[in-house]
Amino acid sequence: MAELAYVNGTLSAIESARVPIEDRGYQFGDAVYEFIASYNGTLFCLEEHLDRLERSLRGLDFSPIPRDGIRKAILMLFEKASISRAGIYIQISRGAAPRNHLFPKSTSPQVVMTIREVEEKPAELRKNGAAAITVEDFRWGRCDLKTVQLLPNVLAKQKAIDAGAFDAIFISEGIVREATSSNFSIVSGGGIITHPLNQNILPGITRMVIIDLCKELKIPVHERFFNTEELFRADEAFLTGTVTEVLPIVQVDRRRIGEGRVGPVTQRLYEALRERAGA
Ligand code: PMP
Repeated sequence: MAELAYVNGTLSAIESARVPIEDRGYQFGDAVYEFIASYNGTLFCLEEHLDRLERSLRGLDFSPIPRDGIRKAILMLFEKASISRAGIYIQISRGAAPRNHLFPKSTSPQVVMTIREVEEKPAELRKNGAAAITVEDFRWGRCDLKTVQLLPNVLAKQKAIDAGAFDAIFISEGIVREATSSNFSIVSGGGIITHPLNQNILPGITRMVIIDLCKELKIPVHERFFNTEELFRADEAFLTGTVTEVLPIVQVDRRRIGEGRVGPVTQRLYEALRERAGA
């Protein structure tokens, strides 16, 4: 079992992996990424993550990169590292070239990956639920693309931690969007309400799996906008994400959501997700 880095086909220890200082990901945030987790030695939703990676690359007008090559590299790294509960970070930048806003004509994309043991969320948060704060969504207009331009997310997450909360929920035009690295849903009248897919949120893979599980479990799903007023009236609220899985949010801006403890729908979805993932 070893934590490893991959840089354009070469494996090394993470600490010794290097990219050129003129990598466009470093200078312009001109890069996309994915984060894939495994459960018991099997990568969960690999093809869905590759779909989204291709979509992000297309969204930034990257030249096509063969999907088979990326998949092969991921699987090779996963096999070499031999970590049963792994988190694989994949970043593809437009390449390294003398600094110029214009796309470079002759450079190839740089593919960088790391693999590590997943850092699990504290058991206490899963048992008792987490607190969140709301923040104004000051991100760019294409939150549906998974780019490395995460500074607003970084600042909002830090603000949440400094306020004694776990995460921040972005609000714009009065609409509840998503959290800093997770999608956000509420439970009301036994059904879930979640922001529809558009340019204001990331199309989360976990969100997609949860919607599918709701169909199996006969839990109604409403993909529609909701505001903070509706959030504060909700019975339950939860985050979804590759590492977050399904995490109950029991308090927002110091106000209790529902009973202020983990609700039955959230708990059921958490268990169903873990089962689907082979945990
Ligand atoms: N929204 C944002 C902003 C994220 O960074 C993430 C994590 N990638 C998600 C939602 C959840 O996506 P997923 O379920 O694919 O991990």
